[in-house]
Amino acid sequence: MADEIREAKLNVIGNLDSYVKMTMESIESTGGKAYLAKTVADAQEILKKIVGTGKKIVMAKSNVAHEIDTINTLESSGNSVSETDLGAYLIQLSRDESSHIVFPSLHMTREEIGRMLHKELGLQISETSTTEEIVAAVRQLLRKKYMEADIGISGANAISADTGSVVLVENEGNIRIDTVLPPVHIIITGIDKIVPTLNDAMKEAMVQSAYAGLYPPTYLNVTSGPSSTADIELRRVSPATGPKEVHVILLDNGRMEASLDESMKEALLCIKCGRCYFSCPVYRVLGKDWGKQPYGGPTGAMWTAIVNRDYATAEYCTHSGGCREVCPMKINIPKVLEYIKWENIHTH
Ligand code: SF4
Repeated sequence: MADEIREAKLNVIGNLDSYVKMTMESIESTGGKAYLAKTVADAQEILKKIVGTGKKIVMAKSNVAHEIDTINTLESSGNSVSETDLGAYLIQLSRDESSHIVFPSLHMTREEIGRMLHKELGLQISETSTTEEIVAAVRQLLRKKYMEADIGISGANAISADTGSVVLVENEGNIRIDTVLPPVHIIITGIDKIVPTLNDAMKEAMVQSAYAGLYPPTYLNVTSGPSSTADIELRRVSPATGPKEVHVILLDNGRMEASLDESMKEALLCIKCGRCYFSCPVYRVLGKDWGKQPYGGPTGAMWTAIVNRDYATAEYCTHSGGCREVCPMKINIPKVLEYIKWENIHTH
């Protein structure tokens, strides 16, 4: 499956312009609203217009949402935003930075988390609490937030050009609730997440889950526009019980330019499984201090160059090559980083 996804993504990267157009048309044909944001500032403006002010928002973990600084953008325009992925929620509460693309709170110990939850929220949790007790306490808090939310925000593991469907894979159940319970669902994702078909999107989610070490996934979610029903006289009407509105913001922010660069385009194949982090000696020493959030670790050194135009982060790479060996997309990460280093020396 990973080999098939590599081929499918290479095809998209080679024709990104037309795939973006096709994806946007497909989203609109499902009753969703599609937006293309060239820059972070564009994405923030679109997001602020959709959300307005005074809203309660729940957010599923999304790297692209962090790339556009969603929480600060929406809170500064009078809204409240709560992460709902456990790791991302712990990072938000502790005002810390994520240390891994799949497991953001990897650097925090159970004892630290117990102390922090007691200090920040006054929960009956302490440094001696078990993991089960911590998870149960947070579960109660989050379930209350879902019931009050006006808007749910998520990212996407993959989005299909043929149907405009967004596929998300998860285990906690927070994505499923975030994307179905509130009346409005906003998806913030990169144009690199486009694959040709819904079948490809499902496969990509399965591969991501397997290489993240969480196979089989507990939930696989598909969103193709707002909720609908055809139960009365076979006429499909919208909305039904789920969201009334679905908005999809597709972010470029350097991705289109990277797709036209023979060396950099390989980075766009990344499905953000996070496997390469564990094979990297530099990440094992530096952790979240390597790279700019949300993109750290070996893949983050490539992605920081694409989205932040930060070419110096790649200088830390020692070219051990372990990342390349484990990558499901067979990305030659050390070679891409060598190219970024060359760029850093010669052009910056
Ligand atoms: S570079 Fe490869 S191993 Fe690393 S996160 Fe991306 S797909 Fe996974």
